[in-house]
Amino acid sequence: MTAEEIYNKINSFHTINTETNKSVFGEIADLYDKHKEDEAVAHIQNYFKCDENTAKEAFAIFKKKVGPPISAEQIALASAEALAMQYGPHCPYCNSTNLHRITTLEKAADTVLFGVYGNTRRCQWHCYNCNSDF
Ligand SMILES: [Zn+2]
Repeated sequence: MTAEEIYNKINSFHTINTETNKSVFGEIADLYDKHKEDEAVAHIQNYFKCDENTAKEAFAIFKKKVGPPISAEQIALASAEALAMQYGPHCPYCNSTNLHRITTLEKAADTVLFGVYGNTRRCQWHCYNCNSDF
C-alpha cells in the first residue's frame, strides 16, 4: 500500500479498529492532538502493516489535511460547550453540574484585585465540586 492509499483508509470513518472499536482516524487524531506523533506513526505502521517510512508519509499527509493539532484547552472548551448544549452546563474537568455562573461584577472585582491577568476574568463558570473556573 502507498502512503496515499493508507491515508485514504484512515480518512474513511468506516475503518474501525476491531481491537478498540474506535475509528482509526479518531485514534490517530487523538495521538496527534496529544503531540504523540511517534506513537501515531507506530500505530499506522502496526495497523496497516506497512514500513516505517510509508507510515511517516501517510501521517505527514494526515497532518497536512487535518491542520494544526487542537489544544487541550480547545478540547475542554468544545466538550463543555457540547455538554452544555445537550444537558445544560457541566464542569469540563469533573463533569459536575454544581456550578455557579460568574457574574460581570465578580469578573470586574477580580480584575481590580488581581489586575488584568486575574484568572477568572475570562471564565464564565465556577465549579463548586472541583473548584475550577472555565
Ligand atoms: Zn469541576
